[in-house]
Amino acid sequence: MQSDIQKKITLTVLGCRGSLPVSGKAFQKYGGATSSYLYMTDTQAIILDAGTGILNLPDLGDRNVSLLITHSHIDHILGLPVFLGAMGTKEISIYGATNCGMSIRQKLDTYMRKPLWPVGIDVFPAKITFREVTEDGSSFDIGDVRVTAVPANHPGGSTLFKLSCEGTDFVYATDFEHEELPDDRKPEMAEDAPLGKEILRYYTEPMECLISFAKDAELCLFDGQYTPGEYEKCRSFGHSTYVKAIELGQKAGVGKVVIVHHAPNHTDEFLDGIKEQLPSDGTVVMAKESDVFEIL
Ligand SMILES: [Zn+2]
Ligand SMILES: [Zn+2]
Repeated sequence: MQSDIQKKITLTVLGCRGSLPVSGKAFQKYGGATSSYLYMTDTQAIILDAGTGILNLPDLGDRNVSLLITHSHIDHILGLPVFLGAMGTKEISIYGATNCGMSIRQKLDTYMRKPLWPVGIDVFPAKITFREVTEDGSSFDIGDVRVTAVPANHPGGSTLFKLSCEGTDFVYATDFEHEELPDDRKPEMAEDAPLGKEILRYYTEPMECLISFAKDAELCLFDGQYTPGEYEKCRSFGHSTYVKAIELGQKAGVGKVVIVHHAPNHTDEFLDGIKEQLPSDGTVVMAKESDVFEIL
């Protein structure tokens, strides 16, 4: 029987701080928890990254739980052990690509073991399945959500994810630099070139590729960690600027670009200053912890 209830798709900001968590009075408005976002449909809870923001997860009801990891830099996986503990005996699928010669399982094992953590992933009662992601532009399904993965331009490698459902597209573009990286910072995959010329363009013309990947998406989270002045001093660290977020919104026709991965030294006052530079029509906004965006 066809349901006449309108399906709903939302994106919740659980944590939008980059690099390291911060706390204190100067960070109350935008929040201090690191990268974690919740894409939720009627049946699916798809968590993007497991930074400390994952501790802010709301009740997921009986939804199917999946975790997409862009890469294993510490700000994107710090919250994993506490999350796994909180999930009890639930079934969880963890998706991630191989980079630096390590599978997603191997990368997470590196963090969750002595001497960095007292226990390994195996001690948790949750039923965890690891699933390999290939960043070749091909897609896989999580329930009724189609997921497409391509490489992000970031030292050590990272993944850009597109989630498509009910005719809507959502793109997660964190830890992304808009200019080509020097050879010694390029992800290894660029040298191995197993994925063909089209995919290698994501390293040489990253901004152009992201604009086409995010074309006409309803919502896109974008790494706007730096001001243009800061970027000049932090080239090849793997992040972008709020000015590029505006460019993405204009050139890709994205409904709303949300700036994420705020630098740990950017106070509420500083981020409010950046907000003043954004278009007044609401097409580019700053992410704040606990923001909820309606995709459908
Ligand atoms: Zn990061
Ligand atoms: Zn990173």
